[in-house]
Amino acid sequence: MARYTDAVCRLCRREGMKLYLKGDRCYTDKCAINKRNVPPGQHGLSRKKLSNYGIQLREKQKAKRFYGVLETQFRKYFEMADKQAGITGENLLRLLESRLDNVVYRLGLATSRADARQLVVHGHFTVNGRKVDIPSYLVSIGDTIAVKEKSRSSEKFKAIAENFNGTVPNWLSVDIEKLEGKIVSLPSREDIDLPIAENLIVELYSR
Ligand code: SF4
Repeated sequence: MARYTDAVCRLCRREGMKLYLKGDRCYTDKCAINKRNVPPGQHGLSRKKLSNYGIQLREKQKAKRFYGVLETQFRKYFEMADKQAGITGENLLRLLESRLDNVVYRLGLATSRADARQLVVHGHFTVNGRKVDIPSYLVSIGDTIAVKEKSRSSEKFKAIAENFNGTVPNWLSVDIEKLEGKIVSLPSREDIDLPIAENLIVELYSR
């Protein structure tokens, strides 16, 4: 299972915004965007104005980085989205939001998508009572996502329950005492709070 293993704060600096890839650290003064919001690399500050293609490319890179998805898989999501009825860009975001690692993060059961991914891979979650350790697993309406019984008493999940801020997106419900949540509906575009212009990604792949 391929994943990005380089320094993640570089990715935020490259996109010029917080992508919230490091959990709690992203909300502190240690955040690299707070300290030094310039593109990484020797020529970071001297980059030229972007072309249309460059703008579309950056938008795709940003979306991939928010969700922690590499190019091949991202392209597959686009192809799936393109085949679905409705608006391709919105379908794409809905598919990305439906990944199990994203749902675990959205439910507040992990501190970041990367944290969620690791917890899923380590087998701490069940979907409808069955262990699922595949971060890209796509959830459906009515699914129940829960922390595995054996894992519930761990310090990690105790801390997650204690620090829970009480809010989850409209399309999810959570019972933090039980460390479980439910997919009430799949998200509409308004439910997805990420600053992504998905139309630019569609334009890029339609070239
Ligand atoms: Fe991005 Fe978080 Fe690093 Fe800040 S601390 S640059 S938000 S990954």
